[in-house]
Amino acid sequence: MLNVRNLQVRYGRSVAALHGVDLEVPADGVLAVLGSNGAGKSTLLRAISGTLRLHRGSVLAGSVEFDGKRIDRLDPAAIVHLGVVGVPEGRQVFARMSVEDNLRAGGIGARTAEARTAARKRVHELFPVLAERAKQRAGLLSGGEQQMLAIGRALMSAPRLLLLDEPSLGLAPKVIARIGEIIREIHDQGTAVVLVEQNAVMALRVADHAAVLEVGRIALQGTAADLSASDDVQRLYLGGHAESDATAEAEARDARQHRAGVRELSRWAG
Ligand code: ATP
Repeated sequence: MLNVRNLQVRYGRSVAALHGVDLEVPADGVLAVLGSNGAGKSTLLRAISGTLRLHRGSVLAGSVEFDGKRIDRLDPAAIVHLGVVGVPEGRQVFARMSVEDNLRAGGIGARTAEARTAARKRVHELFPVLAERAKQRAGLLSGGEQQMLAIGRALMSAPRLLLLDEPSLGLAPKVIARIGEIIREIHDQGTAVVLVEQNAVMALRVADHAAVLEVGRIALQGTAADLSASDDVQRLYLGGHAESDATAEAEARDARQHRAGVRELSRWAG
């Protein structure tokens, strides 16, 4: 569905952010993109959604194709029109507008009034709280609810591909788990998803496929199950290092106790 080939991106004249990224997003899946701070995850989503220019970024080389059509030179509105919609990092809702008006703003691009009504029904089914709070100002919602509204607003234009940038950021574990379930539901209803996340546990639970970005390059790519089992992903992103640190610490503690015990015994003996 989405094909990224040899994508090279820089900001201004000197900051190279992507150094030749190759990536495929199948039509029927959720693709998780993992990576540490500054790896280029948001840059990749900006390049796909055509919003690089808003950040003084530009594509130096390579291409992005959606359904066989090049989109890397299109403006953001044209890309939304084709069915690719992004939810940027940081729950950017219109805080002073009501929940309802936020959703209405997302539906402006819908082709017909019927499509808009169907999209609103879908959003209210996925997020009943957005129907309950329809008249409330978006700025008064909790962080989790604002994230739901940001996703709901993107769904109002009935996208075929949804790009999510760190939807779990700053949310409580229970809310993160709920967002994960909702991403799965969105996918089951026929929308492909690219999920950029630092929360690798959640992302790999939700995704079918995954890629790891490291300093502007894809370091690993495969099924979510394969990546979950990979030593590097375990060590760097799933807290495997924390476990081995804990093991090392426990071993060191045992050794200290053993040495103290030996000293104690030798005092008694002698
Ligand atoms: P994070 O998880 O912290 O959001 P990221 O993986 O999304 O990180 P990007 O935000 O894509 O990474 O940044 C990739 C590189 O591009 C970094 O070196 C970053 O400093 C740089 N960069 C990002 N946005 C800009 C910008 N608007 N102007 C200049 N450099 C930028």
